[in-house]
Amino acid sequence: MLSVDEAQEQLLAAIPVLALEEAPILEALDRVLGHDAHADLDLPPFTNSAMDGFAVLAADTAGASADSPRRLPVVGYIAAGDPGTTPLSPGTAVRIMTGAPLPPGADAVIPIEQTRPLEDAVDLLAAVSGGDSVRYAGEDVRRGQRVLQAGALLRPGELGLLASLGYARVPVHRKPIVAILSTGDELVDIGKVPGPGQIRNSNAAMLASQVLRAGATPQMLGIARDTREAVHAALDAGRGADLYVSSGGVSVGDFDVVKQVLTERGSVDFWRVNMRPGKPVAFGRIDGIPFLGLPGNPVSAFVTFELFARPVLRKMAGHRLRYRQPIPVVMDDRVPSANTRRHFARAFARWEQDGWHASTTGAQESHLLSSTVVANALVIVPEGSADIAAGERAAALLLEWPESL
Ligand code: AMP
Ligand code: MG
Repeated sequence: MLSVDEAQEQLLAAIPVLALEEAPILEALDRVLGHDAHADLDLPPFTNSAMDGFAVLAADTAGASADSPRRLPVVGYIAAGDPGTTPLSPGTAVRIMTGAPLPPGADAVIPIEQTRPLEDAVDLLAAVSGGDSVRYAGEDVRRGQRVLQAGALLRPGELGLLASLGYARVPVHRKPIVAILSTGDELVDIGKVPGPGQIRNSNAAMLASQVLRAGATPQMLGIARDTREAVHAALDAGRGADLYVSSGGVSVGDFDVVKQVLTERGSVDFWRVNMRPGKPVAFGRIDGIPFLGLPGNPVSAFVTFELFARPVLRKMAGHRLRYRQPIPVVMDDRVPSANTRRHFARAFARWEQDGWHASTTGAQESHLLSSTVVANALVIVPEGSADIAAGERAAALLLEWPESL
């Protein structure tokens, strides 16, 4: 039997990072930058005004106050978008808008709120210093500077920076395509009413949405009956994928046609992982494509996806952090130990003034999908440890932020 950590380590060691592609900037969201990004110009590109007001020479404002204003003639007007090349002469002011280029000769902007504008002049009600309300060219980013390193996660802020540097297309790691296969004679499509002994194929929709949440693209292979031909045909249909994820048919000890086909067609190991729910997980390659076989029980499939498939997809997509980082929670209720196995209990975690708290979401048997419904966390009871009592601390994997529930 493998520990969860050993299984994760072995699995990820066999997974390649996918190649790069140029994606339109919006398709780069939540993906990983493939090359260092450099600035093609200064940011800001030119020295400009941080305020609506008047461009001045700071020295001309010396001693100005509300009680003894300083009057300057207003000789021009510069809006955002103007080239702003006309120089400012000492002893004059120019009306200027936020983002407009500072005219040569000016060294400060006095905000409109500190002035009293007149017909062709302005009364300055305060003194300003050189550099006040001025944004200098290159003070954010210098032309040629590396602004992001390969491996950076691209969130809205990073994309904004790349957009300002002209990256209409962004080099990113390819999104993994995940072929999702359900196996079992008892399964029917979700649009059908199950006959006697049948159940709906709920795992495919669940796993596909986990694939989407993990930033990858699902490819639905449908249901393969428990026959050699059906399993072969389904695998054939997934040939273009980066990863197969199946559910069902990999239980340890059982004779199963799925296992037989996998063994013949590729090199697949059937692992017993020291965890609950989950335990049987298959991993290997089929036609050169990594294959991950998850248990059929919906909750086991859900949890093993989070622990094994998600890190695989994150590695493929170039993420450096592949695993969720546990957070400390204080339990509201008891979390039973799974004895010698590591227990992942479905729970709802929420933030309170003194930190994170969590409650389990009901019965924890692996066929009870309803307890995943309001769960946003998996509370970990380490292998060999006793029950976690109400009021005790535990580590939890946060699947979703609580505001979404
Ligand atoms: P197996 O791993 O094939 O022995 O399946 C274990 C349990 O999971 C059985 O009760 C199956 O009916 C159920 N199961 C298997 N595949 C699915 C699926 N795609 N959707 C829902 N339940 C499933
Ligand atoms: Mg089965």
